[in-house]
Amino acid sequence: MCGIIGYTGNENSIPLVLEGIKNLEYRGYDSFGCAFHGDSNSIEVRKNVGRINNIIEEYGITNEVSDRSIAHTRWATHGGVTKENSHPLLDCSGKIAVVHNGIIENFQELKDNLHSHAFVSETDTEVLPHLIEQEIKEGKTFEDAVMAAAGKIKGFSSFVAMSADSDSILAVKNGSPLVLGLKENGTFVASDVPSFLKHTNKVVYLFDGDVIAINKSGFKILKTDNPGKHKARDVNFAISDVEKGKYRHFMLKEITEQQKLISSLAESNLSYLNNASSLIAVSRKVYIIGSGSSFHVALLAANLFRDLGKDAIAVQPQDLYNYSKLIASEDIFIIVSQSGETMDIVEALPLIKRNKKIGIINTEESTLSNAVDYFININAGHEKGVAATKTFTMSAILVCLLAMFSFGQEKEAVNDLKLLDINLYNLFVPSVYKIIKETSAAIKNEKDMFFLGRGNDYIAAMEAALKMKEVTYIHSEAIDSATFKHGPLALVSKGVYSIAIVSERFKDREINNLKEVKARNGKIIGLANEKLDVFDVFIRSQPAGIFSFVPQIIISQLLAYYVSLAKHIDPDHPRNLAKAVTTK
Ligand code: GLU
Repeated sequence: MCGIIGYTGNENSIPLVLEGIKNLEYRGYDSFGCAFHGDSNSIEVRKNVGRINNIIEEYGITNEVSDRSIAHTRWATHGGVTKENSHPLLDCSGKIAVVHNGIIENFQELKDNLHSHAFVSETDTEVLPHLIEQEIKEGKTFEDAVMAAAGKIKGFSSFVAMSADSDSILAVKNGSPLVLGLKENGTFVASDVPSFLKHTNKVVYLFDGDVIAINKSGFKILKTDNPGKHKARDVNFAISDVEKGKYRHFMLKEITEQQKLISSLAESNLSYLNNASSLIAVSRKVYIIGSGSSFHVALLAANLFRDLGKDAIAVQPQDLYNYSKLIASEDIFIIVSQSGETMDIVEALPLIKRNKKIGIINTEESTLSNAVDYFININAGHEKGVAATKTFTMSAILVCLLAMFSFGQEKEAVNDLKLLDINLYNLFVPSVYKIIKETSAAIKNEKDMFFLGRGNDYIAAMEAALKMKEVTYIHSEAIDSATFKHGPLALVSKGVYSIAIVSERFKDREINNLKEVKARNGKIIGLANEKLDVFDVFIRSQPAGIFSFVPQIIISQLLAYYVSLAKHIDPDHPRNLAKAVTTK
């Protein structure tokens, strides 16, 4: 995954692509680079490893002026994080520049055939400018050469190319998202809408198989498998959605936003869930698919379905092939994805092509939202923090609502949601922040921590441990309390912290397990409705029926956030991660 943007227009393109690429930094931040059309019909490239702002300053890029440019923020798949491997990559003549999102599976074979070309990087991407150069050498126009190159690469790849000798910027989509932004006297192409939203909300979503040329006055479709579908439309993103506002980090902004999102959901008319829930009601079995935090959503939902008496299972997409002999046509699939582009799920789609699919997705236009029969918008707004927070909570609530609706328990579900809404007023208060900040300071130097729970509390523990790993780098392991004494207890010694998530349902049994930890002088931070003797630190998490996991998760998110700050880590950009995993 990476971020791509290109712009050509009457005004200076440089500030537009720089601003846009900064908005795309959540998609990858190993290195940054841009290419622009220079004065003497040259292609000028500025790129380096590190954060975008530092590189812009290093090269004084803001002083440049050009009518067309492209930029890239990388999440390395092939080749180390080095200046040479940063995008844009050039052909031998230095006249063709390419930025790329994805993996070219046959790059080695293509590279071997381009023996007269000089390669300077270890990336798969670099075959693209050389392929285009080769096609031009053999007599093709830039446009035809890009189409020919696109036809030769295998795997999922989207890329944007520019040539010193062409006024147009070319965009090829296959897999990763690309969208056009249409402005008076100028056109954007980018990985997402918020990157250019300040300048236009008139967009055209591209389809897989598209080859598009953008120029100052709009765009030209050079090749498509979806004729007639490239309609310009206005999108209703709020700018406040993509800016930090008064918050220091997107992660804190997005954690805080959960209260408002849950309130609005509790007040809204949920009848739009009826169609999907009636499909579930007549299905034989429910499979819920997700990766990372979305897999935890799937586990919570599967637990609830089974509690209600429905056969249901959470499966990670890469394991789905394992079930291929068991899947019947009457089985229904619920796909949970924040980005709608999760490559592992996209790849698993052929296995379930005859099954009905419901998508719980936070992006209206995406590969997965287009592939499902029923699309349910998570409606959490743009999430820029790399660690999923509000999208986790909102998608988990939606799947649980769906489960309840499919069993005719709408009233009970809505009551629980209203209870949750009320409870959250007691969570986002100074006294809770105070204890969370104090606890963060106490645990910031830990090397290992355990997250304990049973049933849904264990799943909440898995998500809590993932948050802690992602933004603090502390080794955090979720363990089902019931299994702790079957081995992991050996790891507990004096002062080792465990975070125990304890809801009413499992309290008595949990207390026994926690006593075993205390007996080994371990320390316990308890997230529960009442203070238990075994807790060294107690943070209240009020129950809310089927949504009791929500306060537990919000507290864990805040804890991870403040530990991250205490360790001087930028929680919006933890090392090695990117927001959506659009590569295999
Ligand atoms: N495969 C390319 C690289 O490693 C692009 C990766 C990406 O999508 O960021 O440079």
